[in-house]
Amino acid sequence: MSHEHGEQKHSSCSHHHGNGDASHESCGSCSHEQPLKQVKHIIAVASGKGGVGKSTFAVNLAISLAQSGAKVGLIDADLYGPSIPTMFGLLDEKPTVTGKNLVPLEKYGVKLMSIGFLIEPETAVIWRGPLVSSAIKQFINEVEWPELDYLIFDLPPGTGDIQLTIAQTVPLSGAVIVTTPQDVALADVAKAVAMFRKVDVPILGLVENMSYYELPDGSKDYIFGNHGGEKFAKVQGLTLLGTIPIDRAVREGGDNGQPCMLSNPDSATSKSIKAAAEEVARQVARLA
Ligand code: ADP
Repeated sequence: MSHEHGEQKHSSCSHHHGNGDASHESCGSCSHEQPLKQVKHIIAVASGKGGVGKSTFAVNLAISLAQSGAKVGLIDADLYGPSIPTMFGLLDEKPTVTGKNLVPLEKYGVKLMSIGFLIEPETAVIWRGPLVSSAIKQFINEVEWPELDYLIFDLPPGTGDIQLTIAQTVPLSGAVIVTTPQDVALADVAKAVAMFRKVDVPILGLVENMSYYELPDGSKDYIFGNHGGEKFAKVQGLTLLGTIPIDRAVREGGDNGQPCMLSNPDSATSKSIKAAAEEVARQVARLA
């Protein structure tokens, strides 16, 4: 995999490490391979604020890419609020173990790993930084990820340890940033954009979620403000990957484990998500 953005080699070995990180703590004997080298493209889905639909987009992006014929994996890196088990209807499932590695679960053609499959979600809430980082590294190094075209990380909201650990441990192809159009969300999204730029992770673009609500007469109610994401993208020089309306089917699909891409494939909302997913794939291909 080639990376124009900030990839560095460790000074004492020839192995590649993650974006922008020149150090690698386990490199003493340098037996470490580049993590996830069986994966063609690694994509982070990020947001400034919680509740903007980041996980919803990550899930539907993964399914959409899988439906296009790609081999896809999804890591729920939102350790403090894992929603992948719910959104895939896998709340009571546990991964199996081979040797010392976990085997990802699979549903809707997507290989999955989430802290929610392993522990009670309340347990992780009290974890401190080092434990969180080691859990993430375990998801990267100790899960039997097969050869994949895309591995998607559903990041926690904001700009914390987990985001940095991932950005510095794996060679991210780029980040997709999800926001809603209102000013309070955009203020935080600016920080997420700044963080990825600082660690040399290319930003694939912005998805504006909950852009509007379509009224019965066909007119649009811009509940969270008019085109805020689009304007923000323009100011920041980012690609607008797509706009997704507010739709009850999206919320219901998330809650009942039947993402709307599958339950309502022909709705305008599903089509807008599919178009955004195709744009993500185009941007990844452009940067590869
Ligand atoms: P985040 O990952 O940013 O915290 P989620 O993806 O968990 O956000 O979404 C928060 C809530 O909003 C969920 O209940 C989800 O189903 C709902 N939601 C997300 N996008 C939409 C949308 N376009 N229309 C309606 N509900 C949505």
